[in-house]
Amino acid sequence: MKAIIIEDERDLAELLAFNLEKNGWQTVIALDGKSGLEAVTTELPDLVILDLMLPEMDGIEVCRNLRRQEKTTAIPVIIVTAKGEEIDRVVGFEVGADDYLVKPFSFRELLLRINAILRRTTSVQQKGKALIRGSLALDLDRHVVTIKDEEINLTVTEFKLLQSLAERTGRMQGREQLLRDVWGYNSNADTRTVDTHITRLRSKLGDAGEIIHTVRGFGYKLEVE
Ligand code: CA
Repeated sequence: MKAIIIEDERDLAELLAFNLEKNGWQTVIALDGKSGLEAVTTELPDLVILDLMLPEMDGIEVCRNLRRQEKTTAIPVIIVTAKGEEIDRVVGFEVGADDYLVKPFSFRELLLRINAILRRTTSVQQKGKALIRGSLALDLDRHVVTIKDEEINLTVTEFKLLQSLAERTGRMQGREQLLRDVWGYNSNADTRTVDTHITRLRSKLGDAGEIIHTVRGFGYKLEVE
């Protein structure tokens, strides 16, 4: 497993690399956003740890770029930020980060997040079946969603969210339940995170996203006519 750490505080980057390597990871450090983006695009790691305030290109822009490119769009991204303001949370998730941590954080906390994300990835990959809902087909082996044979690029988190809704088609699902199912108990994420991901999911799915219904004051429901 390979992680790319994009962080301009060299001491922190090296500490993270050291600890990850102790846990069996290969690591690459990038000290600015631009070289970080290049490193991810060429190395295609299993995980990106991304600082927000970076020279050359900030973390938001790096994350947007990763999500735009087909080959990097599904790579899990954990944002680490010194600023804990609400705006950063929302922005972080709106650009498609899978989770975030506010500095200072313990390495143990980071490992919990990493493991939760990897569980999402593997639980998505290990089931040998497909779900068909309306014009949507979720290939649970390949972790790919298609609409009329056209592949839609979703992040790991977006896929898991869609899968959770699809597996309980016709049943209302509360935001808290979706949060637990998709992000797990250890996440910083709150219920608005569910909303921002649903918004992204709907926009990626286009007309096919209309099967995701909002249940006012409660959550969401996937319903096929
Ligand atoms: Ca920084």
